[in-house]
Amino acid sequence: MPRPIATDDPLQWLARVLAQAPDRLFLETAAGRRYSYREFDALVAKHAAALAQRGVAPAERIAAQIEKSPEAVALYLACLRLGAVFVPLNTAYTLTELEYFLQDSQPRVAVVRPQDFTNVRTVAGRVGVADVQTLGTQGEGSLPQLAASTTQPPPAPFAADPAALAALLYTSGTTGRSKGAMLTRGNLASNATTLMNAWHFSEADVLLHALPIFHVHGLFVAINTVLASGAAMLFLSKFDADEVLRLLPRATVLMGVPTFYTRLLQHPRLTRETTRNVRLFVSGSAPLLADTHSQFRERTGHAILERYGMSETLMNTSNPYDGERVPGSVGPPLPGVEVRIADPESGQPLPTPDSIGMIEVRGPNVFAGYWRLPEKTATEFRSDGFFVTGDLGRIDARGYVHIVGRGKDLVITGGYNVYPIEVETEIDALPGVVESAVIGVVHPDFGEGVTAIVVKQQAADLDEAAVRKALEPRLANFKLPKRVLFVDELPRNTMGKVQKSVLREAYRQLYGPPQTPAGT
Ligand code: AMP
Repeated sequence: MPRPIATDDPLQWLARVLAQAPDRLFLETAAGRRYSYREFDALVAKHAAALAQRGVAPAERIAAQIEKSPEAVALYLACLRLGAVFVPLNTAYTLTELEYFLQDSQPRVAVVRPQDFTNVRTVAGRVGVADVQTLGTQGEGSLPQLAASTTQPPPAPFAADPAALAALLYTSGTTGRSKGAMLTRGNLASNATTLMNAWHFSEADVLLHALPIFHVHGLFVAINTVLASGAAMLFLSKFDADEVLRLLPRATVLMGVPTFYTRLLQHPRLTRETTRNVRLFVSGSAPLLADTHSQFRERTGHAILERYGMSETLMNTSNPYDGERVPGSVGPPLPGVEVRIADPESGQPLPTPDSIGMIEVRGPNVFAGYWRLPEKTATEFRSDGFFVTGDLGRIDARGYVHIVGRGKDLVITGGYNVYPIEVETEIDALPGVVESAVIGVVHPDFGEGVTAIVVKQQAADLDEAAVRKALEPRLANFKLPKRVLFVDELPRNTMGKVQKSVLREAYRQLYGPPQTPAGT
């Protein structure tokens, strides 16, 4: 049975296992590289010593645009050990995007893929970031070398301070500017403890980890919950349905985005037999279609547990472990987290059940604000401390939360967020383009497909392929429109605003017949 464990600081997770069972497995890669907790702690200590040798002090940022690997996890934990602030960056970001993140976060050290070193060093130099190190997928690169050769003793573990910053997670902004969500050590510690208890994690668990680790889901929900409970991870470099099904018989938990589940459902080896050892399938980051939920249940006997959270708040709600998991709902608030529905304009709480309005959240999971943007931070919090999520929803009579839409027109594709304005700005800058509107259209594989509706100048020699090609070096792959369609003019309301809802309706069948999540 899970027991609540008071963890004020993430470092206590490791300390506890090291004191009790240091030889327990922590991480095993698909290729069979295995690390016990003791071995992993030594790797973390080495990386912390290497960073300390580069002069990294508490509160300084370490930016990382690196592939998933055990060393990448060690780098995250080394930051926690030093009291430094980890800044994970999506591996799909282009050099132009990376320059912005380096300029904004001003890291003491930037860690990048070996093949990116030369380009990044130039860009980093331009924005005042002097120290660029490399880290590859097989433990190669300058940082592991430094870690292996350092003669410095590892620095003393950072003293527990729940208010100290642990990470900056960049979220896209509706104004086109990404904001760094400042997460504290207290945020990480409390949310991991909450999830461990809510989802009955224990040291007997083996999590199949196939998510990226530059995002709140793979980094904090997955890894922190494993660490907090002293469990083990089977660590895949990326999601691959064959690999997941090969390893599932050895796992007890899988965490995924809805795309994982739609892909697994296409695989003939997804059966009751292959999933027999698993006690929990979790889904989040984007809406799970009710169809997917029911098909998965039919095939495997498992009801996927859907939860809801975001970079700024970690996890807010979760369907219950023991009670009914309602398809199309993200479940009741997690213990210690307050969720309310409010009037989006006035912030006045609306009566429950069933009023639709802005989802607002308060609790120990909620971030400390946006990095170096005090004014923006102030506008996103109500005076009583509730954070305005930007998601619209309702709470039903049983207290379950239902997300009904996104206030900010966010597109979520394969679990990644794309803010239309960012793509539109790039398209509008192309020669021959008059204007554009980017929308999310239901997509059977990605949840939503980024779709661009473009008005071009009459004489312009521009087609779908040319637009996509021009955007390729400018935008991360997941932000590229899956389709680019040309129209004579965009639909507008009397105020002159583009009516995206009209466009969504017009193109709703673009990627096949739409499915509707039940319960919303
Ligand atoms: P991110 O900060 O990248 O984690 O994105 C957070 C956003 O993802 C939220 O504000 C929601 O709009 C969306 N989201 C996360 N989980 C769910 C879910 N289970 N169902 C629907 N939307 C979700």
